[in-house]
Amino acid sequence: MPGFESITDQRRPTRILTAFLRKGTIPHALLFTGVEGVGKQTAARIFAMACNCLEDGPGQPPADSGKTGLPDNHKISEPCGICRSCRKILSNSHPDVIQIKPSGYNIRISQIRDLCGILTLKPYEAKIRVVIISDAQAMNIAAGNALLKILEEPPDRTILILTATEKTDLISTVSSRCQNIKFNPVSRKKIAQMLFESKGIDPVDADIFASMSNGSLSGAFNISSSKLLRKRDWLISELESLSLKDTGRCLAFAERLSKDKDDFLGSLETIKIWYRDMAVFKHYPEKIIFIDLSDKMQTSYQKHSEQSLISKFEEIRMARQAIRANVNLRLTAETLVLKLVQG
Ligand SMILES: [Zn+2]
Repeated sequence: MPGFESITDQRRPTRILTAFLRKGTIPHALLFTGVEGVGKQTAARIFAMACNCLEDGPGQPPADSGKTGLPDNHKISEPCGICRSCRKILSNSHPDVIQIKPSGYNIRISQIRDLCGILTLKPYEAKIRVVIISDAQAMNIAAGNALLKILEEPPDRTILILTATEKTDLISTVSSRCQNIKFNPVSRKKIAQMLFESKGIDPVDADIFASMSNGSLSGAFNISSSKLLRKRDWLISELESLSLKDTGRCLAFAERLSKDKDDFLGSLETIKIWYRDMAVFKHYPEKIIFIDLSDKMQTSYQKHSEQSLISKFEEIRMARQAIRANVNLRLTAETLVLKLVQG
């Protein structure tokens, strides 16, 4: 049954959502934040289903009160998953559950203008119309400002659910009008357990993939392959052998890193773990994540001082921020590699 309990490791946010449903009053705009692949989209859809489930009858919409209220007789805090409304939402065919996603890298102003047009009409059949704007950080300023008009004058019987990695990724005028619900990274232990149980991945490898996934369950499933471990080995051996004297090789490495945005973000995660392992290896060698690389670590960790590792973490953080803000990938990679190689 597709209920809130199907979302792994997110008890706090799902408790908040079910509390809205029990109370019958929902904020006009919600912002779900958290790393990619922790269940934000799934939670948004389950919430839309729960708002519109017909298990206890169609219900009469409450009189216009300025709030987004559920019908008085709506007592559902978990969707049934089998009524007409639930099935339509599950199959993406409900006319009043509207999904907006980036087209390419951006959510364009035309998409938000089209949405404004739809929202001037009353919902067709929903108790509560639900607009889900995924990766809302992909809205440019113009699109964000267009959305602001909707947030300032929320349409009747409509709620907006925005999803983003972090609240600060959105323009503050938009984020301040949404109630923020934070989704946690899924625990490393839980991810490793799921990789082992559902994909039969060796527990040692499952633990490595879980650590590399940065708390993203779907991310862990995507990366859990031997191909990724080969890529990790390549990344680390390149990084450890590069020198500032050979700028040409550094730039060639940066070029390969920056070919694809998601791939680049994944590589950053791998590099971060490698340096993180270096930072802990001296005092707690048993606590490193890439446990299979401990021999290599033995020869590498002394080359980097604690201070230099701290600045490397900062460089990686800044690179990730630049990638998310759509700064030129190649330029970001070149700046990063030259800084990391500095020692
Ligand atoms: Zn239902």
